[in-house]
Amino acid sequence: MNKFTVIARPDPVSEQLKQRTIADLEKNGYIYDPDWPDYCFVIGGDGTFIYAVHDILRKHKKNLDKVHFYGIHTGTLGFYTDYLDSEYDEFMATFLSGEYKITDYPLLQVEYDGHKHNAINEIRVENSARTQLIDVYVNGEKFETFRGTGLCVCTQLGSTAYNRSLGGAVMQEGLDFIEMTEMAGIHHSKYRSLEAPIILKGDTVLEFRSPTFKDAIIGCDADVYRIDEVTSITIHICQTASVHMIRGRQVSYFDRLKSLF
Ligand code: NAP
Repeated sequence: MNKFTVIARPDPVSEQLKQRTIADLEKNGYIYDPDWPDYCFVIGGDGTFIYAVHDILRKHKKNLDKVHFYGIHTGTLGFYTDYLDSEYDEFMATFLSGEYKITDYPLLQVEYDGHKHNAINEIRVENSARTQLIDVYVNGEKFETFRGTGLCVCTQLGSTAYNRSLGGAVMQEGLDFIEMTEMAGIHHSKYRSLEAPIILKGDTVLEFRSPTFKDAIIGCDADVYRIDEVTSITIHICQTASVHMIRGRQVSYFDRLKSLF
């Protein structure tokens, strides 16, 4: 295990740190190999981290499950990174010493009509053109009929992202749950759905059915897919892959929250 790639946010500070990272790793016997990396160094923010995971999923030949991600933030402290750019020396020394922990984070998976996509933050089914009707099934059992803009399903890590903007609960790190939150649900005497965000066990399988998803999209983090001809969508935690993150020093979850919000 000595091949690496570096994915950086396209700004001067991150780019400069990328060159420094490559130089320091090569000096220590590691080989820069963007196609078959064992390690993916991520320089930027939480958004860059998500981009890097999708980049490995999409373009690189190496299976995501065989890659270890290690992030440094060139802004404020994020949820996917333990170091700021001013702490680069400690970031690199920790990696080279091997004195770190590896934590696995689940990926969400959406399946429809033979397609499969993954997300680390959230999967959204949304329709900004017309009222979207969605029959929600939880582990095969009909739960409710939703009408509105859409539904967002997030992981624990994604709970501070889009989910939080929708009024969803922030979930403390380490909790094995997923959360479903409404996007502009319609609630009156004729139409009613839960309205409140619901936190579900990590092994829950959600199915969204509708007579039509015309003009709706599925958002998997920053990736978007049209689903006009689809009538059934299944969302669950992916059983075959997860994201392996190198975690250096211990940062309190509440310090991260306080620093970001
Ligand atoms: P992006 O520009 O990469 O990210 C948008 C913002 O969300 C950035 O400030 C990013 O932080 C932050 N972010 C990403 N993941 C986070 C997490 N788990 N916890 C807290 N903050 C997080 O946007 P994008 O490429 O379009 O989409 C990537 C993600 O951004 C999506 O998965 C979605 O969750 C989030 N997003 C949120 C909204 C919203 O809240 N209304 C809208 C669009 C997208 P950094 O500055 O550290 O990169």
